[in-house]
Amino acid sequence: MAKILVIGAGGVGSVAVHKLAQASHIFTDIMLASRTKSKCDAIAVNVKEKFGKTIQTASLDADKVPEIVALIKSFQPQLVLNVALPYQDLTIMDACLETKVDYLDTANYEPIDEAKYEYSWQWAYKDRYKEAGITAVLGCGFDPGVTGVFTAYAKKHYFDEMHYLDIVDCNAGDHGKYFATNFNPEINIREITQKGRYWENGTWVETKPLEIHKPIEYPNIGARESYILYHEELESLVKNFPKFKRARFWMTFGERYITALNVLQEVGLTSIKPINYQGMDIVPLQFLKALLPEPASLGENYKGTTSIGCQIRGIKDGEVRTYYVWNNCDHAEVYKEIKAQAVAYTTGVPAAIAAMLMVQGKWKAPGVFNVEEFDPDPFMKLLPEYGLPWHEQIDCPLPVEK
Ligand code: NDP
Repeated sequence: MAKILVIGAGGVGSVAVHKLAQASHIFTDIMLASRTKSKCDAIAVNVKEKFGKTIQTASLDADKVPEIVALIKSFQPQLVLNVALPYQDLTIMDACLETKVDYLDTANYEPIDEAKYEYSWQWAYKDRYKEAGITAVLGCGFDPGVTGVFTAYAKKHYFDEMHYLDIVDCNAGDHGKYFATNFNPEINIREITQKGRYWENGTWVETKPLEIHKPIEYPNIGARESYILYHEELESLVKNFPKFKRARFWMTFGERYITALNVLQEVGLTSIKPINYQGMDIVPLQFLKALLPEPASLGENYKGTTSIGCQIRGIKDGEVRTYYVWNNCDHAEVYKEIKAQAVAYTTGVPAAIAAMLMVQGKWKAPGVFNVEEFDPDPFMKLLPEYGLPWHEQIDCPLPVEK
C-alpha cells in the first residue's frame, strides 16, 4: 500500500498514472502534479472513467525546489515519479533528498541552454542518496529503460559474455500530421539534431547527425531505414557491461520527417540560442514546440506499430550466441485502451512497473542506479501483464547484421 507523486501531465504522465491506477492493489493514493493543473484534471477524469479510481491533482512548478518540497511534505509519498522534462531532474532529485523520498525518472538530465545529456550530473548524487538511505532509479521508460532491462535479462539467462549490442527502435506508425514528434518536441529535436555516437573498442566514435544509416528488418513491420543516434542508455550499459566491444543505437525516420527537419534546421527554427524578436528574447526551438501538436494529442488517428528491441551477440559455454528480444506495440490498440499513442505508452508503462517494484522493495537499495543494475526478472514478468508483451529469438541471424 503506497502513495506516489507523479510530476508531469504530458503524454507519458497520462499513461503512467493510468497504469498506476490499474495497480491500485499497490498504489492506494496517487497525486498528479504539473505546471498546468487543468491537464492533470483532464487526465484524472479519464482515469476515473477507466478504472473508477480518484487521483489527486495539484499545480506545481518543478523548477522550484521549495515548491516540490512543500508538496512532498503535505502529500507524503513513498516515491516521486518524474515524467516532466529532463530539465527538472536535478530540482526534483534535490527535493527528494531533502525529504528522504525515493526518486524515479525516464530521461537523464540536460541543461536547458546546452543540448547535451549525460549521467554525470545525476550519478553525482550517489553518495548523498546512499547516506540518506533512499533510492533513485534513472531512465525507466522504454529506451532508456526496458532496453537496459532486456540487456540485463540477456546477460542473466543467455550469455557468459556479451560483445555486440544493437538497440533498434522503429516507429512504423502514421499519425496523419505533416510533421509532429512523438514525445516532447523540444527534447526530441535536441536529441535527433545532435552528433551521432556509438561505443567501439573502449572508445566513443562520433558521427555527423544521422550520417550512418541502412535498412533494418523489424518483426511484423518489414525493412525500415534506420539511423545511428547517440542515446543515453549506451553510457550506462557500456559501464555496467564492460565486455561490450561495440554498442550502437538505431532509430527509424521517414523521408518526409527528415526533409522537414532539415528545412526547420536550415532556417534556424531548431536552434536553442535565444534571438531578439520585437524586443523580446525567444528561443526558436521553444517557439517551434508551441506550433507543433502536443504528443499526447496524436493518439486518436494513429495507425501502425512500434518495435523496440535489443540484438546481442556474445558467448555462451564457449560457443557464439545471438539473442534478439523485442516488443511490438500498436498505436490504435493503446488508444482504444487508454486514449494514448504507442510512444507515450511504451514509456509510461515501464515507468509504472519500476514504481511498483520500488515501492515493493524489489528494486530498492540506497544510492543512484540505472535499471540494468537490478534483477530484470520481476520487471520482465510484469511487462506483458501491463500491456507490453515481449518476444525473443535465440541463436538466429540478427536482422541488424544482414
Ligand atoms: P510532454 O511535453 O507531453 O509533457 C511534459 C509535461 O511536463 C507537461 O505537462 C509539462 O507541463 C510538464 N512540465 C514541464 N516543465 C514543468 C515544470 N517546470 N514543472 C512542472 N511541470 C512541468 O512530454 P512527454 O510526456 O512526451 O515526455 C515526458 C518525459 O518522458 C520527458 O522527459 C521525455 O524525455 C521522457 N521520455 C522518455 C522516453 C523513454 O523511452 N525513456 C521516451 C519518451 C519520452 P505543461 O503542460 O504546462 O507544458
